[in-house]
Amino acid sequence: MPLIRHIGVLSSGGDAPGMNAATRAIVRTALAEGVLVTGIMRGYSGLMGADFEPMNPRSVSNIIQLGGTILKTSRCQAFFEPEGRRRAAVNLEGARIDALVAVGGDGTFRGLQDLAEEHSVRVIGVPGTIDNDIFGTDYTIGFDTAVNTALESIDKIRDTAASHDRIFFIEVMGRHCGALALAVGLAGGAEEIVIPEAPLDIEGLCETLTEGRRRGKQSFIIVVAEGAAEGGAQALAATVKERLGFDHRVSILGHVQRGGSPTAFDRALASRMGRAAVDALLAGQTGMMVGVICGRISLVPLPETWETRKEVDLDLLRVAKITAT
Ligand code: ADP
Repeated sequence: MPLIRHIGVLSSGGDAPGMNAATRAIVRTALAEGVLVTGIMRGYSGLMGADFEPMNPRSVSNIIQLGGTILKTSRCQAFFEPEGRRRAAVNLEGARIDALVAVGGDGTFRGLQDLAEEHSVRVIGVPGTIDNDIFGTDYTIGFDTAVNTALESIDKIRDTAASHDRIFFIEVMGRHCGALALAVGLAGGAEEIVIPEAPLDIEGLCETLTEGRRRGKQSFIIVVAEGAAEGGAQALAATVKERLGFDHRVSILGHVQRGGSPTAFDRALASRMGRAAVDALLAGQTGMMVGVICGRISLVPLPETWETRKEVDLDLLRVAKITAT
């Protein structure tokens, strides 16, 4: 079994609430095991530039409740190239870092896998993204917080929609994955949820509105994942208006969905995953992502996390529709 005396930790790609709780758990678990920890700033950019910070238990004080990531994050073009990863490996060796834990999404894991394969670096991934689009875990860190943040906005929009008898199209994040739209649409009582995983049914949408009006429903909430329709909620609303002539409003929730203090669920998830990531390295594992499946910690090889598509539960669309009639 390889001896792990010193680990590096970084966050990369899109930030997600709960990344700090994961960093805290990784740092404190490692230190409790007598393993040194270095914080790597700004993801792969800091890895290539040797932007390293020694971590002690106090380095992660009072961060469990903070959104964003104190380690900062970035999108780093140079890491796509072998030369960028070579520089990263040289820096890790120079700092005598034996293994790396990266918190991020599937792009982060692709880079991590390349680094591991090309330079025999020992690595573990921790899923942190509001999209919940990663195979190998039921939930990613940040998803629950983003759902609750979007829900708070939708509840507020519902107040004004009901007062004015309006149709609201609300766009939530999710370019390729409708998990967030589905969760928030169901919880927010949306009349329709439009996601990339289901065929776009303009006829069905128009029927929901006309039928609803006929039955006396005056206000409607249509939740649209940003990638579900060409041009997003704005274009979809325009198409529906062309057909029906109904007045409507569009609200694009945008980056507020990424921020904010993580929910209890995300803090607990991040704490468990962070601890499990260090445990996995100390047990000799590498090239794996930590996940939680049916409440239990699991490990899945990194390539499976992006090669296998994570299915959304399409039955939830029907649940939403029936309960919103
Ligand atoms: P996320 O991790 O949230 O999916 P990105 O897709 O932006 O975010 O990926 C984060 C970073 O990971 C990229 O900026 C890049 O440095 C690295 N990365 C992504 N994909 C690859 C890849 N195929 N090969 C090497 N590095 C990659």
